[in-house]
Amino acid sequence: MSRPDEPTPINLVFDEPPQRKKIPKHLADFSPEGRREFAKELGLPAFRAGQMANHYFTHLSPDPQSWSDIPAEMRESFAEKFTPSLITLVRSVTCDNGMTRKDLWKLHDGVLVESVLMRYTDRTTVCISSQAGCGMDCPFCATGQAGLTRNLSAAEITEQIVAAARTCASGELPGGPTRLSNVVFMGMGEPMANYNAVMRSLRNITDPTPDGLGISARSVTLSTVGLVNGIEKLTAEGLPVTLAVSLHTPDDELRDTLVPINSRWKVKEVLLAADAYAEKTGRRYSIEYALIRDINDQTWRADLLGRLLKNRNAHVNLIPLNPTPGSKWTASRKEDEAEFLRILESYGVATTVRDTRGREIDGACGQLAAAESSK
Ligand code: SAH
Repeated sequence: MSRPDEPTPINLVFDEPPQRKKIPKHLADFSPEGRREFAKELGLPAFRAGQMANHYFTHLSPDPQSWSDIPAEMRESFAEKFTPSLITLVRSVTCDNGMTRKDLWKLHDGVLVESVLMRYTDRTTVCISSQAGCGMDCPFCATGQAGLTRNLSAAEITEQIVAAARTCASGELPGGPTRLSNVVFMGMGEPMANYNAVMRSLRNITDPTPDGLGISARSVTLSTVGLVNGIEKLTAEGLPVTLAVSLHTPDDELRDTLVPINSRWKVKEVLLAADAYAEKTGRRYSIEYALIRDINDQTWRADLLGRLLKNRNAHVNLIPLNPTPGSKWTASRKEDEAEFLRILESYGVATTVRDTRGREIDGACGQLAAAESSK
């Protein structure tokens, strides 16, 4: 919502940076209705779009020769038209005996992004990127340091998820074949700053097969620095994904530095928008809080956060700061982390400490930099 005293037009954060090379169209860029239109524009009957969506989302089958309901001589050209390959694997790095895997992807114009696949006993989660780089400039996050290269298209986002679903189904991960159960928008980029593409990809994830992957909205988490206009738009969509807000401190003074967009939307406004989201969807939201030694881990800040959150439908995720190149900041002492947790719990605020999966392969929160030279 714009305010009369605010000279900066808010839709600035939705502006697309210029594309250097046009991204090929893919069925995952469109709604089911849009896909039928797309087929017609290609001079094909609309039902072909549904068949291709079925191969893509239901069967996860990239091999045109397996598409028995498409005439053999058309399969290759259908593959190119409906499901051109938009991301190419450059390298995978694994840790945790193969249960965590970071993939580096090259997009059609050479731009690099990363995703991380994590298998747990009860679920398998992919953490995906919504932008190449990020424009939010949070000083403790590696992704922000190089700035924003460009937005990803809906299909480029979806391709990361479909690739993860294929990996799960193929049995490549230790433990044998499994189903991709969770998707988190916690890789590179600020999802709310690429709203339309992210929204289309959310539909692709949650729409039942054959229109989408049929993953339940509650198993999808969208994490944001707190772009209030984006949170408000998402609230209006009626899609109950889990909302995570990267708060990192309860006071505006420090948050102006840690999460610079705070100069536009203050802590209270962000929390009110998240409250409205929780109210509308019935879903508890998460507050992410990277604990940085002697910066935001003081007991008074835990008290302030406890007071702010005690009557809200929110859960706190404390994240021990992951190291990033060139940063002088480091994770809190274990005793300070424990005290911070204890204080929050004393206010009745549900709090967990997030694991640091993938840290040794630079695949944990805030470490994705997608350089060819990285580990
Ligand atoms: N732009 C979105 C999505 C990124 S999600 C957002 O900021 O929410 C990645 C999460 O990891 C965010 O909560 C982010 O603040 C956090 N993070 C960034 N750098 C980190 C670091 N070095 N250590 C721990 N968490 C970090």
